[in-house]
Amino acid sequence: MARTYGFDTLQIHAGARPDPATGARQTPIYQTTAYVFRDADHAAALFNLQEVGYIYSRLTNPTVAALAERIATLEGGQGAVCCSSGHAAQIMALFPLMGPGCNIVVSTRLYGGTVTQFSQSIKRFGWSAKFVDTDDLAAMETAVDDNTRAIFCESIANPGGYVTDIPALAKLADKVGVPLIVDNTSATPWLCRPIEMGATLVVHSTTKYLTGNGTVTGGAIVDSGKFDWSASGKFPSLSEPEPAYHGLKFHETFGPLAYTFHSIAVGLRDLGMTMNPQGAHYTLLGIETLSLRMERHVANAKKVAEWLEKDPRVDHVTYAGLPSSPYYDRAQKLYPKGAGALFTFAVKGGYDACVKLVDSLELFSHVANLGDTRSLIIHSASTTHRQLTAEQQEAAGAAPNVVRLSIGIEDSDDIIADLDQALSKATA
Ligand SMILES: *Cc1c(COP(=O)(O)O)cnc(C)c1O
Repeated sequence: MARTYGFDTLQIHAGARPDPATGARQTPIYQTTAYVFRDADHAAALFNLQEVGYIYSRLTNPTVAALAERIATLEGGQGAVCCSSGHAAQIMALFPLMGPGCNIVVSTRLYGGTVTQFSQSIKRFGWSAKFVDTDDLAAMETAVDDNTRAIFCESIANPGGYVTDIPALAKLADKVGVPLIVDNTSATPWLCRPIEMGATLVVHSTTKYLTGNGTVTGGAIVDSGKFDWSASGKFPSLSEPEPAYHGLKFHETFGPLAYTFHSIAVGLRDLGMTMNPQGAHYTLLGIETLSLRMERHVANAKKVAEWLEKDPRVDHVTYAGLPSSPYYDRAQKLYPKGAGALFTFAVKGGYDACVKLVDSLELFSHVANLGDTRSLIIHSASTTHRQLTAEQQEAAGAAPNVVRLSIGIEDSDDIIADLDQALSKATA
């Protein structure tokens, strides 16, 4: 019987094998747009989806395919599709499910860019989102109507130190017959595996921890392969004949791979939000050390959060890894390896002190990114969450006196010393 490898092994080996042409051990960057067909019949079979193979790199590419298989394996899914960014992955994730007039029920606690994407831009497609507090399961259920096609949340929500009760949401999604989509960017599959908790789909911004060092933008969608797309008639793109493929029915033809095949054959074909092979290469390299980095990220974050919480210049710290957090017990239960490495804290002195703090830090970089080896800071209210209303900022955990940290893997003493000197200047 084949051995089932552990996470540390899979993050290096899943999806990759020595290159059949050269024996190259590291996955080559297949820097090619197109692939030569064996003959005319081969080409026809590929275009009819009767045979799986490479046609054109907007659809599939061997380097990108290795990454998709690796991410699917680490998340425990059946298949995955890589995209050009995390935001592309979110549109791609919704595309097979939605049509004009359809809606999604989503958490109020989301990445700022996602709030904007869901509250503004998706309306152009005739889609809409209803924002609900995911801890209020009755309100969530009330929000679901006949046109709801998915429930969407983040595992550990950025930036508010909020931990989502994924098993409870998965149960609700099951009851109302729609897929649960979990953005697992800030937890990564090392801390949280949403599919094991009942999620149907997982989306990632691979820009963050999966790549891990701030080099490329990318995204991914993982399908559990477990949802019955034909049960309700709500998902005709997957259950009904597809005119562009001679009436092929994706669910009937591809079973648990229906969603993945649709995302490639229709989603990438027509939306073109494709990951490039060079980008996939960087992310493949990053993922090889995911568990090692996450372990250090989490250990450092815990030390820094504990130090900040005791500091008189700090009003409060929201980190689910601290016993003072209302989400501490939930985090211990659902994320026993740790509550991630992103958290916020409120500075005494409000908006002005936050701006001064950000400008006084030397080791920390002031950037709109997270999940880097480097420690990063951002004042959300004046940057990433600037487009939101005051109520939306508050709901997202981005009030004017709050800064968000993404703790890196440097020496924790150096991280703390930098915060110490900057807090002195900010609150002088
Ligand atoms: C960054 C981020 C996104 C968007 O990803 P991009 O790669 O920047 O498009 C979505 N969700 C979360 C939680 C993120 O951190």
